[in-house]
Amino acid sequence: MTRFEPNLRIPGPVGLPPSVRAAGGRQMINHRSPEFAAMLVRVLDRMRPFFGTDNDIAILSCSGSGGMEAVVVNTISPGDRVLVLSIGSFGDRFAEVATAFGANVTKLDFEWGTAADPAVVRAHLAANPGYRAVLITHNETSTGVINPLAELAAVCREVQPEALILVDGISSIGAVPFEMDAWGVDVAVTASQKAWMSAPGLAMVAASRRAWHAMETTTGPRFYFDLRAHRKAHATGETPWTPAVAAFFQVDEGLRLLEQETTAGVFARHLACAAATRAAIAELGFPMLAAPAHASKTVTAVLIPDGLDWKAFNAAVTRRGIVLAGGQGKLTGKIFRVGHLGSATVEEILGVAAAFEGALIELGRPVTPGAAVAAAQRAALASAAAPVAEEK
Ligand SMILES: *Cc1c(COP(=O)(O)O)cnc(C)c1O
Repeated sequence: MTRFEPNLRIPGPVGLPPSVRAAGGRQMINHRSPEFAAMLVRVLDRMRPFFGTDNDIAILSCSGSGGMEAVVVNTISPGDRVLVLSIGSFGDRFAEVATAFGANVTKLDFEWGTAADPAVVRAHLAANPGYRAVLITHNETSTGVINPLAELAAVCREVQPEALILVDGISSIGAVPFEMDAWGVDVAVTASQKAWMSAPGLAMVAASRRAWHAMETTTGPRFYFDLRAHRKAHATGETPWTPAVAAFFQVDEGLRLLEQETTAGVFARHLACAAATRAAIAELGFPMLAAPAHASKTVTAVLIPDGLDWKAFNAAVTRRGIVLAGGQGKLTGKIFRVGHLGSATVEEILGVAAAFEGALIELGRPVTPGAAVAAAQRAALASAAAPVAEEK
């Protein structure tokens, strides 16, 4: 396994394009300098279209979970009643963070592998008035499901207009359409190692006008993750504390590549990769966790078929240079996941299909050589030919 680089097919960190990798190796600069300030402005300006917002974004030096914590401590006070819509591990994590900071949390659980049902959410909100916030995972990375966020946000706005809508978009923003302002989302968070094709180290948090306003009256303690301090520093081209400068260099370069590709091109590539992945998996006869209507465009969760030795399969796939993700939480040992976000290309997915065929043939399963590759290629071509549908 030293002759080639791994095809890193986990849902973050993603593999780095060569120019992004090189950017991470640059000499340090003064983070209180015109050079850093120019980079910060460039990053914020190029990121805004992917959030679909005209509002201010704060860039924190931490992983995605740190960004989730920032969302919670800045908008929720101890004792506030909040509703968490959970469809998997990351929804549960959002609830854990809110609980850790003293929120009075109600968790509305939906079966893992399904999306949150707007009708159920509507009924719950109508029967339980007075929530300070509703916490929603846009793309549940643990199950490969994307929530109908526009619809869910519309229901919240209609039934409990006072409730802030706080969204974990860590594995969706930058990869699929996200229209924060149009959908009425109040706070949205993402992280550098997902769609932004960079190393882990930065979390980006965007907030609506009313969310920035709400932050002034939140009563819980906060310091490092105080978004007001970040916003104030960003206004003069700085960060409040020393930032992860190398990750900044990478996100700057990643955004340059994404901008070059255009948002429509980026979204279309993710659709093609997702379609190719699902087609290859289906051709091999593996069931998938998510129904097609709610299937994520950035990660596919595959049920391990009865009789398939997962360890032997994964070892055979790994020998072929493909790195897969296992299941999380209660899905451990039941599923594996194929990440296709950030730098992912259709050709990398065709490589996954080929490796799966080879691994299964090695394990003595009846597989037609080339069949999964062909199915994936056809699906990607069909996806590329179809107009990019607006994600809701
Ligand atoms: C990756 C991810 C996180 C966690 O981010 P870390 O960087 O691992 O802290 C949270 N939510 C979702 C949906 C994710 O995909």
